[in-house]
Amino acid sequence: MVFRLFTLFFLFTLPFICVSQENAKTNYRSPLGIPLVLAANFGELRPNHFHMGLDFKTNGVEGLPLYAIEEGYIARIKISPYGYGKAIYINHPNGITSVYAHCSSFKGKLDSIVKVVQEKEQNFEIELFFVPTDVPIKKGEIIALSGNTGGSTAPHLHFELRDTKTEEAMNPLVYGFEIQDHKSPTIKGLKVYALTDEGYQIPGKSQIVSVSKTNNEYHIAGDLLTIPSDYCSEHGGIGFALEVVDQFDAADNICGLYKSVLKSGNDTIFRQQIDKVAFDHSRYINSHKDYHEYTVNKRKFHKSFKTEHNPLAIYPTSDLGIIKINPRDKLSLSYSAQDVKKNKSSLNFNVLVSEGKMNTSKSNFPSWSYFYPDSTIQFKNDKIEFSAQVHTFYEPTKKNLSLVAPFSFGDPTQPIQYPVIVKLKLPVSKVELSKYYINVISSGGKSHALLSTINGDWIRAESGYLGTFNIRVDTIAPSISPLNFKTTEITKGKNRYSWKVNESQTELVDYDLFIDGKWYVLEYESKGDYVFFDKPKGIVGKHKVEIIVIDSCGNVRKWTSDLVF
Ligand SMILES: [Zn+2]
Repeated sequence: MVFRLFTLFFLFTLPFICVSQENAKTNYRSPLGIPLVLAANFGELRPNHFHMGLDFKTNGVEGLPLYAIEEGYIARIKISPYGYGKAIYINHPNGITSVYAHCSSFKGKLDSIVKVVQEKEQNFEIELFFVPTDVPIKKGEIIALSGNTGGSTAPHLHFELRDTKTEEAMNPLVYGFEIQDHKSPTIKGLKVYALTDEGYQIPGKSQIVSVSKTNNEYHIAGDLLTIPSDYCSEHGGIGFALEVVDQFDAADNICGLYKSVLKSGNDTIFRQQIDKVAFDHSRYINSHKDYHEYTVNKRKFHKSFKTEHNPLAIYPTSDLGIIKINPRDKLSLSYSAQDVKKNKSSLNFNVLVSEGKMNTSKSNFPSWSYFYPDSTIQFKNDKIEFSAQVHTFYEPTKKNLSLVAPFSFGDPTQPIQYPVIVKLKLPVSKVELSKYYINVISSGGKSHALLSTINGDWIRAESGYLGTFNIRVDTIAPSISPLNFKTTEITKGKNRYSWKVNESQTELVDYDLFIDGKWYVLEYESKGDYVFFDKPKGIVGKHKVEIIVIDSCGNVRKWTSDLVF
């Protein structure tokens, strides 16, 4: 059962009563030395997660100094070719951690520590945790230079505030940062759904309603929405979603919604307000947004109803947002969407249910062709095993199950909360076992190599995607070739050397550079498929340069050349 109308009322309300803006804004300094302009705000809808911080523009360039917003100490750093790239976490005495991601380089004592550890571990990718006395930081101290590392696709600073103890991400616009904002949210669409205890994706029982703006007010045609009588059911109701985005004064970037309220007269039907999000809840965004509209039609509908399983702390009241309604009922509803600066947009409309029969069907999703969120799933034979824990699915999901090759599990267009486990029987081996991996073809025909482990004559992987699974073999090493120089040229005066690296099947897991046999840090830019080396000043003349790259199936490629520096 997905929606249960009257149960667990208090269980989900109590922890959220304390969420409010009473936390006094702290007098933080800006992390940048230029005016703060947002490319993205807190809570924006992203694939499988909310945006957990603010993206500050850096004038389209890298290398701007980043300042500690408050005194404290560096508690953690991480360097990865993915995600946050080079990131710094500073703990402050007020129990808040500030995070600075996608840096191009670190500064001061931190930079020296990182270099020593990278050399000791002979690894570009490191993660370090510090005690308060290791790297204390003064307010306004330059800690790093801005960049574009990790998953960033253009130079910017991704900045976060977190509760140090709980590690929840906090909305910096609520807890400490002012950004000029006189623009109210833009309402782009309304959607109505028939809801039953099976969920909201009932075929043919939802519709999008166009919204227009006249004289600063949002309207639907005739201010009236007529819905068929079979949207009503004895144990269900109807629910709404609002397509809404927001903008700030200094840029046209489309940002996310902060708060919305749906009311019927004076009664609140549903509220959302994004002040904090716990990292282990962020994936529940798949339950918050209308997933189909987001992935298929690129539209950002925030649902104003929820399942009891949705633990996100962004709903300040206990209301589930399900409106009990009968044929011929009429009601007046009002939506408001608001940003942190209290700029507000409203949409008022009436709902009329047509005369006719209610929906009396027992199930809209026959159990022979759908998985249900409330069940544990396991299928196996002598070739394959698929399993999924309870609440892996948010809604009833098409089984698409095939236990003979080509093996398939689930509707690839649907999201999952937890990875599904796939085990496949290995063929009689002709290649080394380490060369096997499980591949999944998911939504849009996209192929993903899964991190796989061998156990006896079975191979096992966890998959964040549903789709078609098979065993593949990777015996081909990554390719490597110079990108910004020729081996024949005398590259005197050049400071950065880069090489294109292509791994067509799996992933790069290690990459090292040696000059005359001594290890130097080689940085990896996964999004551009290249590695680079910043030459230390002392290296001049002719030297033997060797690069070794290895993929996740252990295929090794070496590149060697004499270079004249
Ligand atoms: Zn960001």
